[in-house]
Amino acid sequence: MPTQLQSLNSELTVTFLGTGTSQGVPMIGCDCNVCQSPDPRDNRLRSSIYIETPECSWVVDTGTDFRTQALRENIREVDAVVFTHSHTDHIMGFDDLRRFSHARGSMPVYASAETMRDLERVFQFAFKTSNPVPYYLKPEPHIVDGPFKLGGTLITPLPVPHGNSIVNGYLFSRADRKLVAYLSDCSTVPDAIAELISGVKVLIIDALRDKPHPTHLSVGQALEVASRVRPEETYFTHICHDLPQSAESRLPAGVHIAYDGLKLRF
Ligand SMILES: [Zn+2]
Ligand SMILES: [Zn+2]
Ligand SMILES: [Zn+2]
Repeated sequence: MPTQLQSLNSELTVTFLGTGTSQGVPMIGCDCNVCQSPDPRDNRLRSSIYIETPECSWVVDTGTDFRTQALRENIREVDAVVFTHSHTDHIMGFDDLRRFSHARGSMPVYASAETMRDLERVFQFAFKTSNPVPYYLKPEPHIVDGPFKLGGTLITPLPVPHGNSIVNGYLFSRADRKLVAYLSDCSTVPDAIAELISGVKVLIIDALRDKPHPTHLSVGQALEVASRVRPEETYFTHICHDLPQSAESRLPAGVHIAYDGLKLRF
């Protein structure tokens, strides 16, 4: 396909770098059916997505597995990183952005004030402006307190409860079209947020397992959110070892279980 046609056909591509919960699947030392599953889609690294547009590319979160994910997907370009929150499964690969940071001269980092404070504390060697080592990651902090743009994509923060904390999901829109809403970690989705993303083409949402959990949505709760948002398609992410890929067959039409390496093109 000619390059021009390809970029016309895909104005935004989402790659699932990881779709697993904080411990990943398989879990260390677990003999359950899902952890021992022969289906490669039951192997889930920590949740993160990579977004490519004709103008620029970025990652949402850099979890513990970021280096492995970047190698697997042959990622050559990252122009920014957008963080949902500072739990370890979402930030611990931060330092591996240095390849991209060095190529660009710096790495724009988008995060809420609270998440940025945690990043600055955990990775203080990188944020120190007096840092003399040229190959260190050089973050360029941008506090997210409202919608912002990366190239032609409008990115709207979606503050949602995640247990006792409030974390950011994000809505990605282009030319006033709501393409993707990403809510990887949440325990409820308030009506105002469901309204803001209503009719989005693709809803990517936390669905840890069938049983309720204090800080994550269950499958039933995620389906309830989808019924309010009414997206064209729904993809579950942040999945734990209680939910096999094969469970997709019992979900309603248009609802899928995402898996590592899956790409969605818009
Ligand atoms: Zn998480
Ligand atoms: Zn297991
Ligand atoms: Zn979390």
